[in-house]
Amino acid sequence: MRAKSVRADDIILGIQMERTSTRTAAATVESARQIPPEVRARYESVIGLEVHVQLATATKAFCACSTRFGDPPNTNTCPVCLGLPGALPVLNKRALELATRAALALHCTVLERSRFARKNYFYPDLAKGYQISQFELPLATGGWLEIESGASKKRIGITRVHIEEDAAKNLHEGFADADRYSHVDFNRAGVPLIEIVGEPDLRAPEDAYAYLTNLKQALEYTAVSDCNMEEGSLRCDANVSVRPRGTEKFGTKVEVKNLNSFRYLQHALEYEIERQIGDLEAGETIAQETRLWNVAAGRTESMRSKEFAHDYRYFPEPDLLPVRIDESWKEEIQRAMPELPDAKRARFVAQYAITAYDAGVLTATAALADYFEAVVRAGATPKIAANWIQTELLRRLNDAAKDISESPVRPEALAELLRAIESNEITSAIGKRVFATMFETGKPSAEIIASEGLSAITDAESVESICRDVLDKNPENVAKYRSGNEGVFKFFVGQVMRETRGRANPQTITDILRELLQKH
Ligand SMILES: [Zn+2]
Repeated sequence: MRAKSVRADDIILGIQMERTSTRTAAATVESARQIPPEVRARYESVIGLEVHVQLATATKAFCACSTRFGDPPNTNTCPVCLGLPGALPVLNKRALELATRAALALHCTVLERSRFARKNYFYPDLAKGYQISQFELPLATGGWLEIESGASKKRIGITRVHIEEDAAKNLHEGFADADRYSHVDFNRAGVPLIEIVGEPDLRAPEDAYAYLTNLKQALEYTAVSDCNMEEGSLRCDANVSVRPRGTEKFGTKVEVKNLNSFRYLQHALEYEIERQIGDLEAGETIAQETRLWNVAAGRTESMRSKEFAHDYRYFPEPDLLPVRIDESWKEEIQRAMPELPDAKRARFVAQYAITAYDAGVLTATAALADYFEAVVRAGATPKIAANWIQTELLRRLNDAAKDISESPVRPEALAELLRAIESNEITSAIGKRVFATMFETGKPSAEIIASEGLSAITDAESVESICRDVLDKNPENVAKYRSGNEGVFKFFVGQVMRETRGRANPQTITDILRELLQKH
């Protein structure tokens, strides 16, 4: 059994390791070299990502079995996904629709005619002896995704998007006979995936991180996939090479597998780039191979040489008709496309006059963006709503490990609180206290303000009399202020705030104190 403290993404890695471990020859172990920054600066890295995404369908790609995650092993199976002889696949239209939506969101050209192909190889998790995939006629080609790279924006090319089925899952642990047998769970076999093959346009691990972030966001916005990395709905492999800065020719490319969390992606790329530079500096050549990110050891390890690369003997899948996507269906999918993250960010800046940074945070998920817009619709000033959501709300949701959809404070309730602050019914400081109670109890702000007597002291005379009291009680600090110690002013404001329990407007207090101190 695994310890409870193991992170979910480590477990995913564990599964992937097991799947590939039997294919692994004795792993070559290299020690990490320390590359001096001036040496590293002479090289440029070239990275391209291949991302597999599970489509959010209820049923599998070529049969009616459920795709539900976590069901007891081998309960969601039938002759088709078990690969029994004579069983015939039928394409899931919803899978094709979601794949097409993803391709259009990534600005790809969707081919009018594409075709499924058999990718032949033998492995126990592949009962048919081949995987149904797409090869020479993929669903879509030639797209792009924009990322922020340093201070500028950069378009990263997308070579192709194709549909394929997932394999079953081999299990090597957790069974009494695990020392002798491996077990296979076919629930995952035949689950629809798309593979998104990126161009080698990325130049740094940070670029790769930004690309995967934006890709995941686009796929979540369009509801193509839940992109749940813990459940393996989004998996990433990288092709990495290095070349002397200023040269055109690509270096020898190494494929790194098992980059199934954002953290692993960045760490593995950093390690691999340093390893390749170290080898080149030592006068060695880079072998074209597939390597595996070993999270425990914090390094990539040789998995198989490309000399033994599989020849998959692709050929057209005879059991499935070619796929034809006509213009009208494509237009229909395009019309139903939700607003994409980039467009939403630009609109938020223009429509609500908030900063690009704020727009970036608020559009992190479609649900958060919807929440913000609902607060504004309910009457809050956009800039103030943006600030409160980013600070008070997100901090409390984060502490409570809650998603925005589970927020105990509904958008209308937050808008009501913000209106009370804007109309000076309560001070901003009191507003934060009221919000904390709203978050804990779910009560509306008006009720909390009334029951706890928190309305602002708006009458200036009351505030002035409290200010006078504070000055009278602290003659030595008044003397300090007079002799030029400006710092003591904050002390006076603090004392008045304490006396009024935060119910007086800080600006009013400041004005009155300045006036009183000048008079004396
Ligand atoms: Zn099935």
